[in-house]
Amino acid sequence: MRPETQKKQLFGTNGARGIAGKDMVPALVFQIGAAFGSMRKGRIAVGRDTRTSGNSMLLALKAGLRGAGCDVVDCGVLPTPALQYIVKDNFDGGAMITASHNPPEYNGVKVIEADGTEMADEDIVKLEQRMFNRALDVQPWDRVGHEVSDPALINQYVMAVVRHFPSQIGRGMLVVVDPGSGPACTTTPEILKMLGCQVLTVNGTMDGRFPGRMPEPTPEGLAALSQLVISSGASFGVAHDGDADRAVFVDEKGNYVEENQEFAVVVQHLCQQQKGIIVTPVSTSQLIEAIARREGCSVTYTRVGSIYVARTMHSLEKEGKKVIFGGEGNGGLIFPGHQFCRDGGMTAAMMVSILASGNEKLSELVGRLPKRHMIKDRVRAAIPEKLIEKLGHAFRDDLVEHTDGIKISRSSTWGLIRASGTEPLIRIIVESDDRVHAESFFHELMDIISQNLPR
Ligand code: MG
Repeated sequence: MRPETQKKQLFGTNGARGIAGKDMVPALVFQIGAAFGSMRKGRIAVGRDTRTSGNSMLLALKAGLRGAGCDVVDCGVLPTPALQYIVKDNFDGGAMITASHNPPEYNGVKVIEADGTEMADEDIVKLEQRMFNRALDVQPWDRVGHEVSDPALINQYVMAVVRHFPSQIGRGMLVVVDPGSGPACTTTPEILKMLGCQVLTVNGTMDGRFPGRMPEPTPEGLAALSQLVISSGASFGVAHDGDADRAVFVDEKGNYVEENQEFAVVVQHLCQQQKGIIVTPVSTSQLIEAIARREGCSVTYTRVGSIYVARTMHSLEKEGKKVIFGGEGNGGLIFPGHQFCRDGGMTAAMMVSILASGNEKLSELVGRLPKRHMIKDRVRAAIPEKLIEKLGHAFRDDLVEHTDGIKISRSSTWGLIRASGTEPLIRIIVESDDRVHAESFFHELMDIISQNLPR
């Protein structure tokens, strides 16, 4: 079992989140800013997504940072990966007002370190302690931080993505982009046009009420994208979540590409170009390992959460290992030659490159992948960690590993049972190359879970 250190209370897997005006209020954001500014002195870049509560939250964040003596550069409305790229190597830190894929009433804060990655758990615990203990290093009148606005910094990010690909690689390709009224309205269409693509958009005007679809890109929400891909004859459609660190796709027939399959298509392409390590959480489909191995690459597994993937990639590279790619099975992909965080704009550009470099359509690339059957469920549990411990005992005769919760492997079938990072419940994933095996193992797990639930 992983040794439990002090746990985060306010921050979850991807920043602090809550309903604006209820759990997430400007006064709290001010404290996050002041605590972060007390820990990381210097120049801090800030930005936000398109949510209606974003501006008041950003003002509070900047007040906290400046009060703690930090100089603030306001980058305006931009994708999280754009802010992370801007921060990397040029700032002492960053902070983003966003609730990512959550509905419009939510908002939150992601805290970014000088290297562009999200702040690690042990430092988030220190930041929270400062807030709870009111250990805020508020400065006197002559040391208050300054503020400038620099919305043009976003161009550095757009250019950085474009520079990874040969000039005009997308020439002759038609792509439909659905930024979901989020901050990628000004980045992803621009990136694809600079690669030579013709671009159409759905939900392409920024609007924090998200009138066209919710910030989580689901197959149901992307019906308009699918229709336009079909009627326009586009090569593919791409959609982002609310802060555009994730990208999901529909193929040229308008069919939604399941995110593990999307991940596998990119793995296949990159592993054919270079050999090395792919990093992904234990919850990802076995499909990734199957493709990576077939192409002569290996997979390193981490806990669930993009920050663990990014940090593992970073540390493996520091050890001199060749890490070629990483990501999660939710459309959040990390390209280490670009930056160590999920990047939706970069993922969209990579799909252009993949389709331009071969003769196959996206539906054909997906259709040739090995078939896997995944079942996901969740069960409420007052103390999820206690239940997981009991289940570890129940499966003691199986091949079990403990990177995150318990993962039980039986030849080409596996099951993962782990505690949610944010809610009092456990999450269950079962996967197999055979549907019947997946279903029977899922029922076996659910029976054992219900036997171990407190009555
Ligand atoms: Mg996101």
